[in-house]
Amino acid sequence: MEERALTVLQLKLDYKTCRCGTVGAYARYEPGSTTIQCPNCHLSYTVPDAEYAAALAGWKTVTNQRKR
Ligand SMILES: [Zn+2]
Repeated sequence: MEERALTVLQLKLDYKTCRCGTVGAYARYEPGSTTIQCPNCHLSYTVPDAEYAAALAGWKTVTNQRKR
């Protein structure tokens, strides 16, 4: 994932609420994958490299969020 894409992802995550109620999960890039993790309950979601849209969509799924 490009650094810029990771930054955009992080900005979006700053406003997402985890299922535990914590706002602001963080995204971490590692070669080959991107992981989103909640700093409170440590719920995490990992996607292959460069799948930033998938990461966000997956995070919504695991945190049981619904679009309004
Ligand atoms: Zn959480």
